[in-house]
Amino acid sequence: MVMEIRTTLSTHPATDKQLAEVLANPGFGNYFTDHMLTVEWTPEQGWHNGRIEAYAPISLDPSAAVLHYAQEIFEGMKAYRHADGSVWAFRPEANAARMARSSERLALPVLEIEDFVQTVFDLVKVDQRWVPEASETDEKSLYLRPFMFASEAFLGVRPAQHVTYMVIASPAGSYFKGGVKPVRIWLTEDYTRAGRGGMGAAKTGGNYASSLVAQAEASANGCDQVVFLDAQEGKYVEELGGMNLYFVHADGRIVTPETGTILEGITRASIIELAGKLGYTVEERKFGIDEWKAGVESGEITEVFACGTAAVVTPVGELVYNGGSIASAGEGEVWKTIRKQLVDIQFGRAEDTFGWMRKIV
Ligand SMILES: *Cc1c(COP(=O)(O)O)cnc(C)c1O
Repeated sequence: MVMEIRTTLSTHPATDKQLAEVLANPGFGNYFTDHMLTVEWTPEQGWHNGRIEAYAPISLDPSAAVLHYAQEIFEGMKAYRHADGSVWAFRPEANAARMARSSERLALPVLEIEDFVQTVFDLVKVDQRWVPEASETDEKSLYLRPFMFASEAFLGVRPAQHVTYMVIASPAGSYFKGGVKPVRIWLTEDYTRAGRGGMGAAKTGGNYASSLVAQAEASANGCDQVVFLDAQEGKYVEELGGMNLYFVHADGRIVTPETGTILEGITRASIIELAGKLGYTVEERKFGIDEWKAGVESGEITEVFACGTAAVVTPVGELVYNGGSIASAGEGEVWKTIRKQLVDIQFGRAEDTFGWMRKIV
């Protein structure tokens, strides 16, 4: 099915001067493009009323189910401008497939892969002047945020019969200003992010809501991010609030946690393929917090890094926990090599031998 989307252009788009000011220093999540895309769903009509219109606040009935029962999912991806001016997406079908899996878990309607990709591309085409120019030292992009929520006005507890899907876009600056710097990670022993049979593998706001108090604990302990352990035994490393983890070993093995309750990042999946091509052996398995501590101490683990769409790859410099801390090998070269390979493919500076890139415009 090809979705029909009506476009009504904004009557008050940013002026060239305003746009230039925003794109000079966008930060993250501060500014939004001139337009937004909306599609609605009901059981009778399916997906309908697709439209692109001026970006503006939306009106919701106070009883809208999402505000009470958090039936909501989202995606995060980027549009990259290449040196020749063209604009590209990185593995958008993977985001589409993940959104469909999240839909299944949250009892939301599934958007077909082609429809997801088309809607995201449609918005980027309309707002293409908002895709910043990038350079090797300035990784600017247009961050894309598709999301879906229960918009039915009804307080009964059941899957909503009116659902809204939207796409908004926000120019994003270099995640690391003045070069990548290793992060300090706080190990929370009081909070977990996902249990067996829960929503850990779905990209849903609820997982983020439950991570905020642990993230605040991390900040209070002088750390940048929090790492969660499995809920069952409190032994195995899961992930950070919004990034997956990798452990590089001296013998050339790279381990990434696999527990059934983590959110499997597209960056994580891409690194598994890239690292294999670079000659590393990648193991997806349970990885104990004791193995982390002992491995760093013995020198068997030479690097720890986190990955996700926003920061791509970030070295972990230190692990801090109740009663101590260990330096965490953030100074190696493997993360740098992998990061450069990925970013070079995304920005069109290296050949896309995996067939990951899709041209938008
Ligand atoms: C989005 C997300 C990631 C990273 O996924 P990418 O597709 O690589 O951006 C990791 N963990 C959580 C909890 C997430 O929500």
